[in-house]
Amino acid sequence: MTLHLHDTAARAVREFTPITPGRVSVYLCGATVQAPPHIGHVRSAVCFDVLIRWLEASGYRVTFCRNVTDVEDKILRTAQAEGVPPWIVAERNQRAFTWAYDAVGCRPPDVEPRATGHIPEMIVLIRRLIERGHAYTGGGDVYFDVRSYDGYGALSGQRLDQMRPAEDSDDAGAKRDPRDFTLWKAAKPGEPSWETPWGAGRPGWHLECSAMATKYLGPAFDIHGGGMDLIFPHHENEIAQSKAAGDGFARYWLHNGLLGLAGEKMSKSGGNSLLVTDVLTRVRPPELRYYLVQAHYRSLLEYSQDALEEAAAAYQRIERFVVRAAEALGRLGLDAAAAGPGDGELPASFRSAMDEDLGVPAALAAVHACVRDGNQALATSDKAGTRASLAQARAMLEILGLDPLAPHWAGASEPDDRLRQVVGSLVKLTLQQRDAARARRDYASADAIRDGLEEIGVVVEDTPEGPRWELKR
Ligand SMILES: [Zn+2]
Repeated sequence: MTLHLHDTAARAVREFTPITPGRVSVYLCGATVQAPPHIGHVRSAVCFDVLIRWLEASGYRVTFCRNVTDVEDKILRTAQAEGVPPWIVAERNQRAFTWAYDAVGCRPPDVEPRATGHIPEMIVLIRRLIERGHAYTGGGDVYFDVRSYDGYGALSGQRLDQMRPAEDSDDAGAKRDPRDFTLWKAAKPGEPSWETPWGAGRPGWHLECSAMATKYLGPAFDIHGGGMDLIFPHHENEIAQSKAAGDGFARYWLHNGLLGLAGEKMSKSGGNSLLVTDVLTRVRPPELRYYLVQAHYRSLLEYSQDALEEAAAAYQRIERFVVRAAEALGRLGLDAAAAGPGDGELPASFRSAMDEDLGVPAALAAVHACVRDGNQALATSDKAGTRASLAQARAMLEILGLDPLAPHWAGASEPDDRLRQVVGSLVKLTLQQRDAARARRDYASADAIRDGLEEIGVVVEDTPEGPRWELKR
């Protein structure tokens, strides 16, 4: 069996064949860096990290591009509220995203272009669209003429006459059609802007991905990914821009399911924040990764603390075997390192699960079966069996980014983490005391608690989502 992937544009699972044999180009819509990431943001990154690892394990050379949206309405609003330039907000949150991607074991992309670094490429794309009669200027903005492009609506399965107006412009009066979307927004006082032949302004959100994907991956490339919430309007508009300009653009459209919060009320007291930094005070990084990986990438992952803890327990079962087996083989004079991921043959069930649209749940079932066999081999001091199971388990886990012995997780060893969890719980307990003091209007005690925490190096910041803390560096 060869790799098959679900293509949103085809509404079907299709056999994957790359443009150039042996090579795959992947573009993933990355973060709009307006705030630090929650675990829904990193779910997308983890899903596509597994895709890339599987492509590489299947023998492809992958070029992976993931963008950063660093100019956008929400970033500008945050900057305005804080009284700082927008680039300070963007830089700060981009660092938070990079940290979070790294924390859950996502390999960095080959290139991570930022929108503001690609204005010349966007200007060229707008010029091509105007020349071909697909874009027009009006009131200082530049709009895409959706009626000029026949395929508009094909990706999201909508007919033009049923679509709502695009809500991406303050002054829709200059539009020929209310569904036309904005390629370029006229400059406003206090906002960053760039000079163009059509006046000063800043890019609309959709334009950047078309410009950057084709700059780094070429006019036609293999896979375009993103969250399901991006299918419309973002990806619909990317396709319209690029194809109307004459580019082949993406050949497969992959969309990951979202992280649902229906089952869990977000607590305003900050006790249940889903920011990556906060979740990682409750579970270890590979446990969070296991939680994000275990559901099929296209399914809705409904968040609950119970499910998170179950995932952590499942990961620990795997980890216990891997660590015990490596120790046993080491003590028995075998070179445990030689039983590394490269040595293991992937079971056919794992391969076929991954080839069938990245069927991670079935692939994980193969891992757990292997761990059960390995535990039995351990229990009977069957060295050869233990060694074979260890090598096989690690080979599979490496593809899911979950090998407990991978150097990436070296810092996630049990004692350190146990300690970190205890510290996290202690700080939370202390903050609850402070809240209680505030609630009874005992501000002197509340301040004393905050100052005491600061003295031992715990800096507390009050945010609309509740108090957040970090260790002073
Ligand atoms: Zn995008």
